[in-house]
Amino acid sequence: MKISVEGIGEFELSDNSPLILLLEKIKELNPKKSLPVAFVTPSGEIIDWHTPINSSEPSLSLKPLYPEDKEALLVLRHTASHGLAQAVKELFPKAKLGIGPAIDEGFYYDIAYERPLTEEDLAKIEEKVKEIISKDLTLKREELSKEEAKALFQSLNEDFKLELIEEIPEDKVSVYRQGDFVDLCRGPHVLSTGEIKAIKLLSVSGAYWKGDEKNPMLWRIYGTAFFKEEDLSAYLNFLEEVKKRDHRKLGKELELFTIEEDIGPGLVIWLPKGAILRRIIEDFWKDEHLKRGYQLLYTPHVALLDLWKTSGHLDFYRENMFPPMELENRAYQLKPMNCPFHIYVYNQKRRSYRELPLRFCELGTVYRFERSGVLHGLLRVRGFTQDDAHIFCREDQLQEELVKVLELVIYFLKLFGFEEYKVYLSTRPEKYVGDERRWDLAESSLQSALQALGLPYEIDPGEGVFYGPKIDLKIRDVLGRDWQCSTVQVDFNLPERFNLVYVGEDNQFHRPIMIHRALLGSLERFLGVLIEHYAGAFPFWLAPVQIKVLTIKDSVIPYAETVSSKLKSLGFRVEDDFRPEKLNYKIRQAQLEKVPYMIILGEKEIETGTVSLRSRKGEHLNNITLDEAIKRFQSEAQPLFGAS
Ligand SMILES: [Zn+2]
Ligand SMILES: [Zn+2]
Repeated sequence: MKISVEGIGEFELSDNSPLILLLEKIKELNPKKSLPVAFVTPSGEIIDWHTPINSSEPSLSLKPLYPEDKEALLVLRHTASHGLAQAVKELFPKAKLGIGPAIDEGFYYDIAYERPLTEEDLAKIEEKVKEIISKDLTLKREELSKEEAKALFQSLNEDFKLELIEEIPEDKVSVYRQGDFVDLCRGPHVLSTGEIKAIKLLSVSGAYWKGDEKNPMLWRIYGTAFFKEEDLSAYLNFLEEVKKRDHRKLGKELELFTIEEDIGPGLVIWLPKGAILRRIIEDFWKDEHLKRGYQLLYTPHVALLDLWKTSGHLDFYRENMFPPMELENRAYQLKPMNCPFHIYVYNQKRRSYRELPLRFCELGTVYRFERSGVLHGLLRVRGFTQDDAHIFCREDQLQEELVKVLELVIYFLKLFGFEEYKVYLSTRPEKYVGDERRWDLAESSLQSALQALGLPYEIDPGEGVFYGPKIDLKIRDVLGRDWQCSTVQVDFNLPERFNLVYVGEDNQFHRPIMIHRALLGSLERFLGVLIEHYAGAFPFWLAPVQIKVLTIKDSVIPYAETVSSKLKSLGFRVEDDFRPEKLNYKIRQAQLEKVPYMIILGEKEIETGTVSLRSRKGEHLNNITLDEAIKRFQSEAQPLFGAS
């Protein structure tokens, strides 16, 4: 068989042989200094130096992976999980091994042990793994018959491995050895443990074997590994930053929101400061929509169950809905969506083609069932407010409406400092409703709208909803994390189900097209992302408290009161701190509260009739007039693009 390794050369290799036989030749020819970590086959499978190669074709072309390739990291991290397992077995010989895959940001290994594994154990295990790695043990592959493998893992008391062997359909299984340690595995791995230049064990938590609550609980040890020490320190810094920005922690410290066990999981209470933040966004949102020809609606939180039969939600969305409730022998349903209500608004009158497009918007609170295990702060909740809208338009208006919606999405996101997006266009799935011509029209309109705005996008073929194609937009935050927020969906289904019509120029009835869209997604989720994006230090226009007035001594309180009330009368959100505490203490507290500006007043300020200003970022402006300060506040009170 002919093997060609991209960028290196062509080689002869007999069938069912591993690439390790070519190691010396590849070393000679390799134009890069470093050896390939692993290889990718034409079908996309990653194989290592030890994987025997079979091909029905006479020649096979392989893509080498180098340390800088993302997939190489997966191979390294999976190898690190073997090191972790070996360390655990050396320290705790009675431990039994589950599985140890690489994951997005590292790897884990599931381990059964007679007692919980602690943070102290973790430190010991980490030390041991490092020792194993530094021995630079070679990983060697062996193929065994199932019987041989069973005998081997029986002798090692590895019950979970025995279970896994039973599930392998092939007659032969592979194991990898390093030093005295052996693990059931199909690979791929790096050549030796020494390639792992940096490793860190991060946490341990409980995990059911195979994720099933009926199975025994194992201990899942998480870790991460890199080819370079500096990559690990960069990653650890990133984790630190993520922790500091956690919206659940900041939400508590800044008194923005709370979720109480006694009230119910996934149900959010906005505390006064969070409520101000939310109101600013809501007011701004409403104003911007009214300016753009939307009409504002309010609709109820429950409706008769029958409405959801007509809409089809009971058939295809039931598992996400709260159960129905009975009242005077009629069943009611907590709303999972706002769409049917907006349809009834459309149907209030006979609509003419001249009236279209009709754009109805609502900050509509919906309730959806999420399993308690997946609830997460503001990001996954059971009750949330969508910044929802439904546009009813004619076919010839579709594209223009989509352009306007996308423009509004981008306008909003930029305003909150999100400059990078990933856009996905999901097209017709195998099962769909509506005629093909309309699907084609909708897909091409979505595509042209994206092109008109110069937004790069990826196509997710067949990933559209059964009732129409859609655009999903993920925003990238300051830490480079992507968040799904905005969505725009074209719908052919609901207008049919509710028999929506308009009278056309030809005096005949026509079916309008419906667009569902949310710019921010939900206020809860968006605010969760926003808290982390700004690390709680909101720009002046959003900050729940914009200015704190601090007194140096009690004698300045009357002066401070006039300054404070002047600012309040101009509409600024001001808090007074006139307590008889040390100034440094008051400043530190205002810093912790992430208030954008402090006004500091002492005898000198009274004498000169001035104020001293200190910004959150540490900027000082001493003895300026109150008017100068106000001018600065007023300029920052307007929504600022990309400001932080
Ligand atoms: Zn492995
Ligand atoms: Zn909708």
